[in-house]
Amino acid sequence: MHSLDRIQFQNEFVDRFPGDQTGNKRPRQTPGMLYSRVQPTPVPKVELLAWSDALAAELEIEKPSSQAIVDILGGNSVTPTMKPYAACYAGHQFGNWAGQLGDGRAITLGEMAGAGGSWELQLKGPGQTPYSRRADGRAVLRSSVREYLMSEAMHALGVPTTRALSLVSTGEPVLRDMFYDGHPAHEPGAIVMRVAPSFLRFGSFEMPAARNEIDNLRTLVNWTIDRYYPHLPTGPDRILAWFAEVAEKTAFLMAEWMRVGFVHGVMNTDNMSILGLTIDYGPYSFLDDYDPDFTPNTTDLPGKRYAFGRQPSIAYWNLGCLGGALAPLLPDTKELVAILDKYESVYLQKHFAMMERKLGLDSLRPEDRALVASGEKILFTAKPDMTIFYQLLAGLPDAGDAESIIRYFEPAWYVAPSGSDADAFVAFINQYRERIASNAISPGERVQKMGAANPRFILRNYMLHNAIEELQDGEPGLFRQLETALLNPYQPEDDRFFVRRPDWAGQKAGCSMLSCSS
Ligand code: AMP
Ligand code: MG
Repeated sequence: MHSLDRIQFQNEFVDRFPGDQTGNKRPRQTPGMLYSRVQPTPVPKVELLAWSDALAAELEIEKPSSQAIVDILGGNSVTPTMKPYAACYAGHQFGNWAGQLGDGRAITLGEMAGAGGSWELQLKGPGQTPYSRRADGRAVLRSSVREYLMSEAMHALGVPTTRALSLVSTGEPVLRDMFYDGHPAHEPGAIVMRVAPSFLRFGSFEMPAARNEIDNLRTLVNWTIDRYYPHLPTGPDRILAWFAEVAEKTAFLMAEWMRVGFVHGVMNTDNMSILGLTIDYGPYSFLDDYDPDFTPNTTDLPGKRYAFGRQPSIAYWNLGCLGGALAPLLPDTKELVAILDKYESVYLQKHFAMMERKLGLDSLRPEDRALVASGEKILFTAKPDMTIFYQLLAGLPDAGDAESIIRYFEPAWYVAPSGSDADAFVAFINQYRERIASNAISPGERVQKMGAANPRFILRNYMLHNAIEELQDGEPGLFRQLETALLNPYQPEDDRFFVRRPDWAGQKAGCSMLSCSS
């Protein structure tokens, strides 16, 4: 086990690439640079609120045993081998080119060797950097709790994600206009230590491409492939092979989000990980009622660009931006386009493999595609709670008439379907019954397969909302319960959280929809 203050950090990114070394935090463009060296801004008092034992065990890091070590988690102390920096990247936001963005409220401290390779340790909320633009570089407790818990929850669900090692309070109030209604208020400040093999984004490649800094672009691409995709063969097609693999990882991530009902909420290209990880937890949500049109992000309401059901095609759009950034490194764009053209079939293959598990089928037969498609349509119409529906589907009784079917699914209904909607739902369930009657796996194996693919516990927004409110009042009970519950999403120890979103939470801010303000 290592003590955080004694880890020998590597700083390959800083050592390898051109960066602004001045340490100046003044907001500015940094052409020619892939990062800016910058120190965290100290806060009044760092207090440890949460520590991920699971991640700490993987990294072999000891839980902090002194205030001096806790101070590292809040940016009040930087160890001698760390070379803190903010990365420079660009992005397309809501479909529009936004130019330079960069780590405005994140600072990477260093890279450490650990299980399975190298890990970057990064603070989110440590104060201003040259990329903070007009903002403060801070994060509030509300959004930090959401990032901390959800990172670890997604990992426990088996969904690729950046991780979170710790959550600290800073003792510094932070001013936020949470509802964007001209009524800013102070909220407690906090900092999360995030961990990932890399925080590089699609936007990290769009930046040098847009600036026509082709040498920087080429070196960054080669370094990324050597370091994170070392299995790819060297040769003239290396970049294309890499792009195809990024597309595949991204497609897999989308299928995984669809499996667990996760809506990211801000799928801008600066929030797309080059490793296919879920990154930058903001106004995300799990689905409660099954609604592919649902976006949790109030800023996204006009176009619902980032709604649940759109995520796989938005990923394709974002991959198009990444492909565009790589084009200057290739003789022509034909093959890039060919890879993009394959995305849909790559995604569908992953989608159907995922649905096979979700529905507990022995295999996905060609005719099952119609079953999957009608299932989606029926769910969209009947809008049961997604998580509860699949749990009940796993335990579906062999027989029963229409009325008993609707009654059986009662725990999942926000509004029970009636008339032709009920008929359609019942018809689907009977179709499903017929299909599983011919399963080549036993009923027990079916239930097991479904149990491993369908979470029984998800971190619903209203639960997070309640946990945050209580924590802000000094009552950490619910927060702790969620922190424990998220570790076993498929086989919870008890069913305390196995309930629909309560009525009061449907319209309440922070319980269903959220703003980006964090
Ligand atoms: P996000 O919506 O979190 O993906 O952020 C988009 C951009 O805004 C990134 O460059 C962030 O670093 C920056 N940003 C967001 N919030 C803040 C903040 N409080 N202070 C400084 N920069 C911020
Ligand atoms: Mg972001």
